[in-house]
Amino acid sequence: MDRLPAGALDDVTFAAVSLPMHTATRLALPVLRTLKARRPDVPLCAFGLYAPLNEARLRADGVDVVLGPECEDSLVAAALAAHGRPAAAPAAPTSPSARARALAVVPDRAGLPELERYAHVRWPDGREGVAGVAEASRGCKHTCRHCPIVPVYEGRFVAVPADVVLADIRAQVAAGATHITFADPDFFNGPTHALRLVEALHHEWPALTYDATIKVEHLRGHDVLLPRLADTGCAFVTTAVESLDDAVLARLDKGHTRADVEAVTARCRDLGLPLAPTFLAFTPWTTVDGYRRFLDDIEALGLVPHVAPVQWTLRLLVTERSRLLELDDIRAVARPFDPGTLTHPWTHPDARVDVLQHAVMARVGVAPDEPRDVIFAAIRALADAAAGALRTPVAPLVARAAIPYLTEPWYC
Ligand code: SF4
Repeated sequence: MDRLPAGALDDVTFAAVSLPMHTATRLALPVLRTLKARRPDVPLCAFGLYAPLNEARLRADGVDVVLGPECEDSLVAAALAAHGRPAAAPAAPTSPSARARALAVVPDRAGLPELERYAHVRWPDGREGVAGVAEASRGCKHTCRHCPIVPVYEGRFVAVPADVVLADIRAQVAAGATHITFADPDFFNGPTHALRLVEALHHEWPALTYDATIKVEHLRGHDVLLPRLADTGCAFVTTAVESLDDAVLARLDKGHTRADVEAVTARCRDLGLPLAPTFLAFTPWTTVDGYRRFLDDIEALGLVPHVAPVQWTLRLLVTERSRLLELDDIRAVARPFDPGTLTHPWTHPDARVDVLQHAVMARVGVAPDEPRDVIFAAIRALADAAAGALRTPVAPLVARAAIPYLTEPWYC
């Protein structure tokens, strides 16, 4: 959000950097190096989901304390120690008492930039609203093979108490939020908890809208609960489709099939509950013709206006300790861990696929705010050119409609 202001480090006695995502971690690396170079006397801490995953790299850059999620006790102890006030040894972050204390803390956003400066929700008519963010749970009970949450949470999730979530939302509504993004890895890991929350939210703020991320498997399995989302102000649901190829979905251990995606798409359309699908468009299993079929299939499902342009470009990330490395196919293409990108880089066996991915990324990067169907047509032309093919038009099955979305697209 901001550059480090001049003089910001003068009086610092302890510095802690939050690393909740891959991109955040890459952005943090130069900041950590600057901190270490300018104030080598100050203890440095990195915390959050991506800190333990990248511990070796962080320590090589001079980070003294590396903490994972639910680390609030340990973070406080590290800060007190830096001030010469050693605290009682904190409980391990995974202990029930430490976790309960961590989850009972209502986020204090004092000192952060005002909400207005963060991503907004943009409505189909062009209006924008201030968006806040809340967590109803942390972790995930699933173990999808490509997911960076899995090596840290190992199939666990924990619910944040409803009164804490609502207090957090209350503070953000007072600060101007008209929409809340639930940042849970999966909002329906605990569907009863989630529905109680959104019903309480809707009761207290009938005009407040929200969005959440829910996996296809849960949308299908909890089909009867979906009207309650639509009735409580849910503006859209982000769902990780990843692929429409059942063989790829099986390799990713996603827990859903193409038929599930089709059923969920139809059900959500009937309910007027917009889906925002996300994809892993480029994997070692992607072919040029497969990518063309994928584009055709998304158009046939009527989902083109639902897809944030960045989703056409995304490439499988093989992070440290990823379960993907269990697969022979991945080990065959993945190179050793690269501390610059914080991934195992990989090259597609068919060079045309990597060329296509770069071309799609460049096209989306030129004008990410162009109408989504214009970007889609341009990407399809690139894919056709890569295949040396002429296009046979595919008629959409349903009328297209714009959907609301966040001005900062979701990706890892
Ligand atoms: S990809 Fe989603 S559902 Fe799968 S483990 Fe990760 S957060 Fe959970």
